[in-house]
Amino acid sequence: MSTPTGFMEYKRELPNDRDPLERIKDWNEFHKMFSEEQLRTQGARCMDCGTPYCHTGMELAGNASGCPINNLIPEWNNLVYRGLWKEAYERLAKTNNFPEWTGRVCPAPCEGSCTVGLIGDAVTIKTIEQAIIDRAFEEGWVVPQPPKARTGKKVAVVGSGPPDLRQPLSLIKRGTR
Ligand code: SF4
Repeated sequence: MSTPTGFMEYKRELPNDRDPLERIKDWNEFHKMFSEEQLRTQGARCMDCGTPYCHTGMELAGNASGCPINNLIPEWNNLVYRGLWKEAYERLAKTNNFPEWTGRVCPAPCEGSCTVGLIGDAVTIKTIEQAIIDRAFEEGWVVPQPPKARTGKKVAVVGSGPPDLRQPLSLIKRGTR
């Protein structure tokens, strides 16, 4: 757990986006990012729940709940809080092939499932995810990880969004394709 009372001490905050009238003029990033101190404060709001609904992708009463790729959210929230960014990236990369996308475009069912949301505002999971992967690219931690042996099998990717790409890669990792 980051801090036992962090969710009571600190408010949920999100960085501002660039003004829409400005950002339509270019293709540059429109999400602004928090400072390291702000990110660590947001990480401090995570309670490291015994049953982390944020991380547990499942269906409850016909509704999607939690992260569909089971990101290890409480672990990397805590690592960011402690300033251990490389370790946070290594945890994130264990379950997510494309955090640079999901940290930006995912609708974040993890936040909708966050236990803190029962009594206040959910932890800013998606912003922290984006910060981890952006930092990993800046630091040069994202490097190719070629397989030790290639199977010679081919994969057809239908569609171009993160789900289309994530699924076959996940199956390959599990050795089912
Ligand atoms: S549900 Fe919210 S408070 Fe609990 S572990 Fe997940 S992010 Fe942290």
